[in-house]
Amino acid sequence: MFGLNQDFPLLLSSVLEHGAANFGDVPVVCVSRDETTRLNYRIVAARARSLASTLRHLGYAPDTMAGSLAWNSHRHLELFYGMTGLGAVLHTANPRLPAAQICYTINFAGYDTLFIDLDTIQLAETLAPRLTKVRRYIVMAARETMPATNLPGVICYDDLISSGDPDFAWPELDERMACLLCFTSGTTGDPKGALYNHRGTVLSAMSTGAGNGWGLSADDAIIAIPGFFHCNGWAVPFFGPMYGAKLVLPGRRADTAWLHRLIVEEGITAGPGVPTIWLAMLDHCRAHGLSLGRLNRIYSGGTAPPAAMIEGYFREFGVRTIHGWGMTETTSGATISFATATMTDALAVMGTPGKPLFGNEIRIVDDNDNRLPRDGDTPGHLQARGAWIAGGYFQRPDVDAVTADGWLRTGDVATIDPDNTLHIVDRAKDVIKSGGEWISSQTLEDAACRHPAVAEAAVVAIPHPRWQERPFLIVLPRAAVTPEELRAHLAELVPKWWLPDAIAFVDELPHGPTGKLAKNVLRDWIAQGKLIP
Ligand code: ADP
Repeated sequence: MFGLNQDFPLLLSSVLEHGAANFGDVPVVCVSRDETTRLNYRIVAARARSLASTLRHLGYAPDTMAGSLAWNSHRHLELFYGMTGLGAVLHTANPRLPAAQICYTINFAGYDTLFIDLDTIQLAETLAPRLTKVRRYIVMAARETMPATNLPGVICYDDLISSGDPDFAWPELDERMACLLCFTSGTTGDPKGALYNHRGTVLSAMSTGAGNGWGLSADDAIIAIPGFFHCNGWAVPFFGPMYGAKLVLPGRRADTAWLHRLIVEEGITAGPGVPTIWLAMLDHCRAHGLSLGRLNRIYSGGTAPPAAMIEGYFREFGVRTIHGWGMTETTSGATISFATATMTDALAVMGTPGKPLFGNEIRIVDDNDNRLPRDGDTPGHLQARGAWIAGGYFQRPDVDAVTADGWLRTGDVATIDPDNTLHIVDRAKDVIKSGGEWISSQTLEDAACRHPAVAEAAVVAIPHPRWQERPFLIVLPRAAVTPEELRAHLAELVPKWWLPDAIAFVDELPHGPTGKLAKNVLRDWIAQGKLIP
């Protein structure tokens, strides 16, 4: 017997309309270059409807696709909703990827229209000869700021809005239809596409934003630091209208002093970002004796945050770290740790990526996909399944993405506690296999970062004739320190056989397109003899 509830598909258009109807006056602040535009959800929704009505005339409907190569702005936000509300798919290309990979993802997806902004137009001009299928470039700008360009088929985005219908009625779609496409950053092989559907995207935002997740409400102001092209901007474009939170869209700029000013001036309460962003912010506040205004929680994901960073924010600024684990294939987050300010073990809780959000599950397995115990000790291959976990890659049936019983292979090595708390040991490809045992590069990096003279640390494997692999520690120092001092410090924190065989110091560590340490670049540097211990 079926229940008698109505069918109410979970669609992104309904998220935006919820924001417009219930939180219409809540600000959406867009800071691009030197200009600040203050809109609200009512205006953003009207612009998204206008855009959608024009896009429909241009032929966008289910089974069509377009791309964006753009930073976080109100126009990009409108495009998210305007395109997906028609049942069409938006591929958010990542401007931080190497040029060859940007072209690969756009050509692979195979559409003819690319939305760009004033800060990506030069990049688009450089790439255009290689974007073999793109015939039309829509510049997300006002008519009066449209630049001269030799790109073909240029259209001004605001013209699409002004010729559209702000009362356009969204079509009712099947909630399982695709809406957004993001590619992995392809550190090994070509980037692979995760094609999200409406249902999973909405459920992930509901679950992630709720109580034991980000704990969002209309009292919050969120700064959208992760690019919309990185796991849908960690669901921030949906959190705003869903929870009635103020949204601040910082465009291209990511320098610490400027982000800090925005956080304080705009009364930001909740800030997502990779640890590199938050480490720099912590140093900046300490160095200049600054406060963080209303900021009370940061969301750290994408890579393990150093324990010293979590502690610094908590003890010195009263800011909690909400730490999550996720990947492009999990829409945004899959697990999250939620520590209340009164928990006696709050710091330890914040140091783990927590437990699965309702709507998905995790397990660890051996090389043959046999389940391993959740004993907090046994490491295994992490797998996930759920309403917003990828069931395969976009047009890549050749990739063995899921197990026979439907679990996504994540490529991470993890342990799981009896209470289901996840601990990421390492990415399978970063683990150091020494004498048949595993050394976690992440744990070593974290231990190194606890030394006051270490600003950032990276550990990669180097080949060893007897042990197969040994750790090489590369340190970005903030004060003078010797390798011997670092080894003595590490010896207090990790087993003796984990101590790095080599330690080198650098002026800068390389980061990838999503702000994580680029270990492939470090491996190249080592192979080329550029890093001298
Ligand atoms: P890419 O694979 O392109 O770097 P993703 O954002 O998809 O981009 O990266 C996902 C990976 O990031 C995960 O597989 C995991 O290795 C790592 N990761 C994400 N969150 C955490 C975390 N909290 N702790 C440790 N590693 C993490």
